[in-house]
Amino acid sequence: MADRETLEVDVLIVGGGPAGMAAALRLAQLQKAKGGEPLAIAVLEKAREVGAHMLSGAVLDPSTLAELIPDFKAKGAPLATEVQRDDIYFLTRTGKFRLPITPPFFQNHGNYIISLNRFVKWLGGLVEAEGIDIFTGFPATEVLFDAATGAEQEARVAGVRTGDRGIDKHGQKKSTFEPGVDIRAKVTIFMDGVRGNLTKSLVRQLGLDENRSPQVYAIGIKELWEVPAGRTEPGRVVHTMGYPLKMEEFGGGFMYSLHDNLVSLGLVTGLDYRDPMFDPHVSFQHLKRHPLVASMLQGASLVRYGAKALPEGGWYTVPRLYAAGALIGGDAAGFMNSARLKGIHLAMRSGMLAAETAFEAIGKGDTSAAALKVYEDRVNASAIRKELYPVRNVHQAFGYGSLAGAMFTGLSLFTGGWWFRDPLPAHGGWTRIEKLTEYYKDARPDSDATVNPVKIDRQLTFDRLTGVHYSGTRHPEDQPSHLIVHDASVCATRCREEYGNPCIRFCPANVYEMVDDGTGRKKLQINASNCVHCKTCDIMDPYQIIDWVPPEGGGGPQYEGM
Ligand code: SF4
Repeated sequence: MADRETLEVDVLIVGGGPAGMAAALRLAQLQKAKGGEPLAIAVLEKAREVGAHMLSGAVLDPSTLAELIPDFKAKGAPLATEVQRDDIYFLTRTGKFRLPITPPFFQNHGNYIISLNRFVKWLGGLVEAEGIDIFTGFPATEVLFDAATGAEQEARVAGVRTGDRGIDKHGQKKSTFEPGVDIRAKVTIFMDGVRGNLTKSLVRQLGLDENRSPQVYAIGIKELWEVPAGRTEPGRVVHTMGYPLKMEEFGGGFMYSLHDNLVSLGLVTGLDYRDPMFDPHVSFQHLKRHPLVASMLQGASLVRYGAKALPEGGWYTVPRLYAAGALIGGDAAGFMNSARLKGIHLAMRSGMLAAETAFEAIGKGDTSAAALKVYEDRVNASAIRKELYPVRNVHQAFGYGSLAGAMFTGLSLFTGGWWFRDPLPAHGGWTRIEKLTEYYKDARPDSDATVNPVKIDRQLTFDRLTGVHYSGTRHPEDQPSHLIVHDASVCATRCREEYGNPCIRFCPANVYEMVDDGTGRKKLQINASNCVHCKTCDIMDPYQIIDWVPPEGGGGPQYEGM
């Protein structure tokens, strides 16, 4: 048995994103206001440095930031680009139509275009200045439980275990082997991001999603470009609908102009598409070839590439947010407004509310589920519910097509989201993907084909491997794969026949390949070191046999400036 160290803290925050950093800062504020013996607080972050895995559009609604850090400007918050202008275009293959008015959900007056990577780095600096330890390069791999005691009905969350280091690709210990550490806490706050591996396991083990709608995700693929001087108007926000997506597909493009001639460009696509041959990466390349975008990128150079899933399902998909010894917040809880395409401010607010609840509960010496339920009450009484409840059915309405979704979203402004059916029927993403024979009927494409292929010119359009290079992704090669395919025999047989191996298309990083096995048959090859940690495969695999688990500490993308 491994000789494992144990660390005891009062509050453990799993995930050093905006939610986790807001929780840590709020705890520090409460501690200062109360005085006395300081709480032991720790933040665990899987990236090798704070902010390295942070990726978002990103337009920040500064409302929560202003409450958490009222002097954020004086403290040097990296919010250089205030939004000056919003435009929405409907795109056809070569044409464009600008909406004469910008719908309220898309109005960004008073918001800022930011680099989430820089913003979170800045928050991390403030957290460390408060004397709180941020352990970077330490992925948590397991939730620790203690048996239920007294009146408690379910096992109590006791903390987390971090991943072992120094295991080779065959699962053998290397000379550098170090067992993971058990970090035990009175309250563990799970803010491990969208489809966080620990939140996923906690929700499953305690049934925290009982009576909730299934979460629906989207994948956002983003690039940062440096364009010729004078090409951009800093502070301009452009959203697009229509091409390259079909009317049955949820999503749209964005183009945000920052200072220093930088443009943040991306495509968000609902992971509840039906077409098994749909390829989000190829669709993004098509978007870049559209005249509206291509004219912006003429003579420009690619700076960075990245991809990440987003929780789009809304209010009815939020799981129970507490358990004995545990709270859940941020993207892990699904706090994102898909109508506004914003979640950073909601994540931060959930961090503040979780911190207040944990602080109070520890002060009273009661961190039972009943005591921590106050967090859910606080969320229900907060700006999070106020913002998410009226748009609770928006993504689900898009399940009836883009037109129905857009009409429903507009109607929500007047009805507060009411409809004859409430909640609208919801489908977990992968449950909607159709078999090739259902979707294509007689015109079934070959599994290895790319439907609607795009020409890769390495000026505007790039292949996945080049994208991985621009994401700064690094993983030590000699470690077990962190993409666990529980039954790879399905890949070459059932999946190939029924769905045409959609993993080779929905993964934006060329991790999954079907290669010749030497006998003329195909077999799955996993290029795990390419993985940009977007979580799409864990969400979208139609047999639900892929599990994303954290690689050895510190591996993953380096989203500098993204
Ligand atoms: Fe995303 Fe999975 Fe591909 Fe990694 S392997 S980049 S998590 S789809």
